[in-house]
Amino acid sequence: MKVVKTACELCAWSCGMEAYVEGGKVVRVKGMKEHPLNNGRLCPKGSVTHEYVYAKDRITTPMLNEDGRKLIGILRLRFSLRI
Ligand code: SF4
Repeated sequence: MKVVKTACELCAWSCGMEAYVEGGKVVRVKGMKEHPLNNGRLCPKGSVTHEYVYAKDRITTPMLNEDGRKLIGILRLRFSLRI
């Protein structure tokens, strides 16, 4: 199993994260102990980041309302693991 140092991007804190990659897929994430911001901890949302990556209902393309306003959900597009 490969461990990739990365950062959570679910919110502005960008906590340090280690992604455990097996067969090209992230199977688990943990907080990066040496990261000065989170010292190895992840919040409940960050600790399941890998589930967001492979969620079947994940938004992967920009979406607009018919009147052209951006959907709030478009913010979820920004999330990705840097591996
Ligand atoms: S682990 Fe939680 S607090 Fe840290 S960046 Fe991710 S969502 Fe934000």
